[in-house]
Amino acid sequence: MEQITVKASQSSYKVSVGAGIRHKLSELLPKSYQNVFVISDTSIAPHYLDDYVSSLLPDAKITKKIIEPGEAAKSKDMYFDILDSMFEAELDRKALVLALGGGVIGDLAGFVASTYMRGIDFVQLPTTILAHDSSVGGKVAINHETGKNLIGSFYPPVAVVYDVDTITTLPEKEVRSGYAELIKEAYIGNADFLSQLLERKKLDKENEEQLIEDLSLGIRVKTKIVEADEKENDLRKFLNLGHTLGHAIEAEAGYGTFTHGEAVAIGMLFALELSERRFGADLRLGEFRSWMERNDYPMHLPDLSAERLVIRMQMDKKSENKEVHMVLLREIGDPVTEKVDHDTLHNAVTSFLERMRRA
Ligand code: ADP
Ligand code: ZN
Repeated sequence: MEQITVKASQSSYKVSVGAGIRHKLSELLPKSYQNVFVISDTSIAPHYLDDYVSSLLPDAKITKKIIEPGEAAKSKDMYFDILDSMFEAELDRKALVLALGGGVIGDLAGFVASTYMRGIDFVQLPTTILAHDSSVGGKVAINHETGKNLIGSFYPPVAVVYDVDTITTLPEKEVRSGYAELIKEAYIGNADFLSQLLERKKLDKENEEQLIEDLSLGIRVKTKIVEADEKENDLRKFLNLGHTLGHAIEAEAGYGTFTHGEAVAIGMLFALELSERRFGADLRLGEFRSWMERNDYPMHLPDLSAERLVIRMQMDKKSENKEVHMVLLREIGDPVTEKVDHDTLHNAVTSFLERMRRA
């Protein structure tokens, strides 16, 4: 088992990553709880929920809220519905919320926990590879009709308990999605980790030792950045590598066409190309492309309009005054934020789309 401590301004919490650790959840929590509210979804709960709660106090009161899987759960309606269930379960300020699932469950449960009686403890029990990212750093949110994650706050969990056994039932598409975020972290902050990933034949969710190591390395890169910049001023923006175009593609292709990570991988390809052109660095672009290909990342884009993508990139939360600020790499492990003017961006996106269509 690997353990990483994340220091947040108000508190710090431990992220435990290991195989089979769902059976000893209570040992990995900072204290014991009498009243526990578990939020999960129907793809996950039948496999893992009982294992996770079996190590809690024998007389603890456990209430389960099992919802339908999918992003639609991060809604205002579901938010209030869960709060209602929590009042019904008579949770007091000393109660605990357990978020068993991927990013959707983590974001939703965290936001609920952050506002129930002005905030009660919550613990993340990630079951996807992608959730290594969302479970560290304390961002919690639900969606608004205007956009994703627009209603939210910074509310760190009191612990993260990550049992990699749960990854065995994760669909391949989701494995790919999570690894895009891991290779992003490697590019931003760990060249050795990047070599390991690029030199490996295939993603392998069965190799638990490797999963533990990969997730821990990714979490360490992310932790270092969020500790230095908890509230997204400067450094935290680097985690956005690949996301400016990635988010635009996700939205423009229609949510669900690509997973988040698949869109981010495409966005990274674009950002790395732009970086090589701007800084003349060798970012192992050919190897990255071949890593994407052999792991079945989408290399062929549907017919998207370059200008519409650029407009979306200008609207990105991280852009200022319609100026697009993109994360680029001067070298592997050396990210910078650069302004990219409209025409340069438009031309680069047009030529990128052209090549991706021919691919
Ligand atoms: P993330 O945002 O972390 O990628 P989501 O919460 O969007 O994850 O979950 C992606 C999908 O995978 C959902 O349909 C969810 O129910 C399903 N899922 C999550 N974890 C597992 C797992 N360990 N086994 C099987 N399905 C899972
Ligand atoms: Zn992301």
